[in-house]
Amino acid sequence: MDRYQVLKHYFGYDSFRPGQESLIEGLLSGRDVLGIMPTGSGKSLCYQVPALMFSGITLVISPLISLMKDQVAALNQAGVHAAYLNSSLTPGQYRTALRYAKEGRYSLIYVAPERLVTPEFLDFALGTEISMVAVDEAHCVSQWGQDFRPSYLKISEFIRMLPKRPVVGAFTATATKEVREDIVDFLMLQEPLVSATGFDRPNLYFGVLSPKDKYGALKNFIQLRPGRCGIIYCLTRKLVEEVCGKLMKDGFSVTRYHAGLSDQERRDNQDDFIYDRAQIMVATNAFGMGIDKSNVRWVVHYNMPKDMESYYQEAGRAGRDGEPAECILLYGAQDTALNQFLIERGEEHPELDSFTRDLIRERDRERLKKMTFYCFTRDCLREYILRYFGEYGSNYCGNCSNCLSQFETVDMTDVSAALLGCVKECGGRYGMTVILDTLRGASTAKIRQYHLENNSFYGSCSKVSVHRLRQVFQELLIRGYLKTTEDEYRLVKLTERSEEVLSGERFFMKMAKEEPVFGTDGKGKEKGRKKKALVSGMGEQEETLFERLRALRARTAREERVPPYLVFSDKTLVHMCLLKPQTREDMLRVSGVGEHKLEKYGERFLSEIREFQKEGQ
Ligand code: ADP
Ligand code: ZN
Repeated sequence: MDRYQVLKHYFGYDSFRPGQESLIEGLLSGRDVLGIMPTGSGKSLCYQVPALMFSGITLVISPLISLMKDQVAALNQAGVHAAYLNSSLTPGQYRTALRYAKEGRYSLIYVAPERLVTPEFLDFALGTEISMVAVDEAHCVSQWGQDFRPSYLKISEFIRMLPKRPVVGAFTATATKEVREDIVDFLMLQEPLVSATGFDRPNLYFGVLSPKDKYGALKNFIQLRPGRCGIIYCLTRKLVEEVCGKLMKDGFSVTRYHAGLSDQERRDNQDDFIYDRAQIMVATNAFGMGIDKSNVRWVVHYNMPKDMESYYQEAGRAGRDGEPAECILLYGAQDTALNQFLIERGEEHPELDSFTRDLIRERDRERLKKMTFYCFTRDCLREYILRYFGEYGSNYCGNCSNCLSQFETVDMTDVSAALLGCVKECGGRYGMTVILDTLRGASTAKIRQYHLENNSFYGSCSKVSVHRLRQVFQELLIRGYLKTTEDEYRLVKLTERSEEVLSGERFFMKMAKEEPVFGTDGKGKEKGRKKKALVSGMGEQEETLFERLRALRARTAREERVPPYLVFSDKTLVHMCLLKPQTREDMLRVSGVGEHKLEKYGERFLSEIREFQKEGQ
């Protein structure tokens, strides 16, 4: 079989996605590769297809047990023999798996990095033909990445021990320049073919909202999306409990995940979500690594996360099947402060010396600033994200809350001049909160302690809403009229540009005519975006058929004890609804239906479709 036949036969796809083919070609020709592709773009296929064409075994190194299990289950579903070796197996199971591996039963073996140089594993590896080593989440070798794993440093040691060097492929979703170089160095890639696929995920809608009533906004959002799976990320465990509890009381199908729960409970809740028994997952950022669920239709951030890397990774768990999905960030005034607190407390990386820790803290502050800017920018959000990761998009994507809002140019000279004047009079000795409180004429302990009632701008903006004040403040920061010190105090200081506004130059800002909204506007009036069709080509009839096929998929998955998306993805079901296949040959034309799945499920789904059409006549 050639690579196209492998793609069709096992995976049921007709064509490769951008980036996949050159990496596959590289590996097949014996060249090391480094693939940088965003989550959901199909990294795994890049090594799975060659693995099925090599004569020897492919080892896939992956840091996450859940990810290994999921991938192996998906491969088995596609009729590929694969296994995993990690600490979730009992010693007996481990030995059995190794024996089967020695007998050559598997074409792919997923293995945890810390297993590689153990005597048991080496005994197997040194006596077998290993054609390829594929390193998933390759950024874990870098100390500068977010999830450095010392055990990843063992990979090159292991490869050097092998009698014949296999071809090595490294894959990751997040790699800045430093991390890229680390990957090449530490994995000792030999003149690798590097392929970076764009970070853009056109099927994702991005939105930022600052609702007064966050929970109310969230509830409306979910109500308008019945039956669609989603994840809600909160910054703290306490918030997870609170939001989950409220949603439960309001009758939603919801579960939760955070580090404070027992292992068992976390596993159970995660399974409930993956197997579609719970529609909504409320979680801290502990949730999601290695979750391959492809039909997550929305991700709402109940708080602003600490940096764009986290945001894009978490939001990117929506729409992995390529169908439209939504990523909404609900910004609240406390979010920045809460993140600042978490940075200064700095509980991460206890193993590092204080100099390195300071460096990291500085980096984190800078990242938080960029994240905050994302919440306040009025330019295209997608453009902002892409620029952050070093790419350029168009200035208008038409699929984010800023591109879809109407803006007007508003003269903000008075407010900005007051803000700058207040900072000047304060001599740059205070942080943002004190400055804004002074302008609003608040009477807090700090205001009284520093005698800021005597500041000539005290109360000068009492008619301006706090949100508006914050917007102006952030705009002044973004455009360089103000800066904050790079330490934990973040004192607000003037810059060379401040004088322009202070000496009377006018200051304009682009403001949304109305806040982008979804759901009702609190007065019970329907506003904002209507319930969206799953895909544009689907009419009412197709939607109904989709629900029927979804139910059949759920029954099938229950019988087989696999997650529904491993039977067929949402995308495959949608394609089925549009094609309405009548024969087995028709069925093979559906994207995501390979030979093996046709054998297993073809008849059931064909007869459901026929049934549906008969009833409709
Ligand atoms: P990643 O590892 O990059 O996050 P996955 O490998 O899990 O992404 O792939 C995401 C989804 O895209 C999976 O459902 C996969 O089956 C699907 N996919 C991958 N390659 C293709 C392709 N060439 N055509 C259609 N779907 C694909
Ligand atoms: Zn846009």
